Amino acid sequence: MDDRQFRNAMGKFATGVTVIATEVEDGVHGMTANAFMSVSLDPKLVVISIGEKARMLNLIKESNTFSVNILAADQQEVSMIFAGQLKDREVEFDRLDGKPVVPGAVAQIACEVSAVHVEGDHTLFIGKVTDIHLEDAEPLIFYSGRYRSLVEEQSAVTQ
Ligand code: FAD
Repeated sequence: MDDRQFRNAMGKFATGVTVIATEVEDGVHGMTANAFMSVSLDPKLVVISIGEKARMLNLIKESNTFSVNILAADQQEVSMIFAGQLKDREVEFDRLDGKPVVPGAVAQIACEVSAVHVEGDHTLFIGKVTDIHLEDAEPLIFYSGRYRSLVEEQSAVTQ
């Protein structure tokens, strides 16, 4: 099994798209991620997975806090900015429980790191959820290496 086959198989799992944000003395840093899931209801825990080469890795270790921002269908450009695909764009952040969050996201989830697990070339951060803000909007979808929207999928079913 080669890397491409593994990536292709994992890409068949349709996900939302998040921007992970954290703040250190130098300022706020954001990174696009789809390796996110809910872990526990009591206590309320989530997990994110950050690659060993990502700048975000050491920044979360330093701040011990992060936010997960589930992007809305109209935020593909935001995803591309924080994936390094669109350069030199200014992005304003709001605040939730003191943590930086992305305005317009479908859900903003503020977290404090409660555990860290290094697994292969990624690090899993378990986040204890300290606050949540929700917006009534459709989410951005990522599937098979492409951005999609639920609206597009629904209309495809009814045709
Ligand atoms: P950089 O590459 O330095 O930062 C990312 C980009 O964000 C840069 O262009 C930077 O200028 C910009 N940026 C950061 N902060 C700000 C700010 N305050 N204002 C304006 N711009 C800013 N990688 C993972 O490790 N885990 C995942 O789950 C994951 N999922 C992904 C899902 C998708 C759909 C995509 C497209 C990418 C995913 N990646 C994931 C890859 C990851 O987003 C990129 O490798 C990213 O560039 C790594 O970010 P970095 O922390 O190394 O920082």
